[in-house]
This record gives sequence, structure tokens and C-alpha cells, in this order.
Amino acid sequence: MRLKLPRRSVIVNIHGIGTPARDLDPGEDVAWVSVSQFEMVLDAAIGRDDVRLTFDDGNASDVEIALPRLLARALRAEFFPAAGLLGEPGRLDKDGVRELHRAGMTIGSHGWAHRDWRHLTPDLAHEEFIEAPRFLADIVREPVTRASIPFGSYDRHVLRRLRDARADRAYTSDGGRTREDSWLQARNSLRSNLDAEWIRRVMLSPPSLPRRARQVAARTVKRVRG
Ligand SMILES: [Zn+2]
Repeated sequence: MRLKLPRRSVIVNIHGIGTPARDLDPGEDVAWVSVSQFEMVLDAAIGRDDVRLTFDDGNASDVEIALPRLLARALRAEFFPAAGLLGEPGRLDKDGVRELHRAGMTIGSHGWAHRDWRHLTPDLAHEEFIEAPRFLADIVREPVTRASIPFGSYDRHVLRRLRDARADRAYTSDGGRTREDSWLQARNSLRSNLDAEWIRRVMLSPPSLPRRARQVAARTVKRVRG
């Protein structure tokens, strides 16, 4: 009898594409990719049901650049805007969020103001974990139950707050593959130095055993620290 292993998918996380329409935060430019880099990733995702795509931060490029290219390839994705930043220059506004949702994309929460969730007062935690998904749910008229963690920064307190807020999936930036039924979903963030070799290594080939062991060890540390 063959043992059926749980499916492990690759989640690719995208931040901004093309020329930013706003001043970026210090160090944020390394998370931006060109349109052609982005298209290379999309083309590698075609026909791959073990590859999933997510978008963090709610940049205007989500609607202006990503959406038409996803639709042209019949690809779906999940978008995680920061609710409190909607409508700011270079960001999605409420109509943009509705447009993504109407086009069949899933909307999740990236919190309210893109704060580090490891360092929050109780008031700010309420805004980040409770008010942000509610605000987005009002826009799309549907419950928003998934969350992606800003800066991939978490510890056991962050995870407890997400569970208390009834998030049914929590997305990190830990890298590697992830089991589709896992509550904590590891993702691979695109970087400005993205090339065909990255796509081959991360999206196409199964990770080597030593690399997987290192990834699992790093995640365990984050999950229990506090
Ligand atoms: Zn972010």
C-alpha cells in the first residue's frame, strides 16, 4: 500500500510591481519587481495547481498591473491589503478591493497600518486583528478570515491573537513549501533580484532534505518564542 502524503504547495508572495506610485519605506525597494519579472513568475505558475499566489500591502499595482495579467492567464490569487492604508497615494482604494474581489480573487487582511505585530499595545492589537478584517469584510460583503503577517514577524503571542480573532489561515514569510491543510502557511517573497534560477529553485524543484530541515527548525523557533 502506498502512503498518501499531504500535498505541499509553493506560495509565492508579491509586494509591488513596476514603478512605485509612492515613496517607499526604507528598504522596501528590495521587495519590488519589474513587470517582466512578475510575468516570468505568472508564466511559471500556469497549469500548476501546487503553486499559489498572494499579494501583500495593497499597492496600486495589484489592480493596475497584476489583475489584468492574472486574468489573461486564468490564474487566481489572494490579496492582503492593509485596511487602514486604503486610499493613500500609490495604494488600492475601496473600489480597487471590490474590483479584485469581483474578478474572483480572495481578500484577506494584512492588518490596519502595517505595524510589527510583535510590538502592539492592546488597543492597537484590536485595530490590527479585529477591526481590519471587519473593515475589509464590509467592503467585499463577505467574511474576511485569512490574515498575512506584516514583515513576516510573529511569535506565539501573535499566533494566539490570530487564533482568538478566528483567523482560519495565517500566512508567514518563512519560505519553503507548505501543507495545504496547515493553519500556518509559509510563503516565498519575491525580491528585486528575482531571476530564472530563483523560479527554478523555489517554484519548480522540490527542496532538498537539509534545506527543509532548516526551514522547519526556523519555523519552530518563531512559533514558540514570545
Ligand atoms: Zn507587508
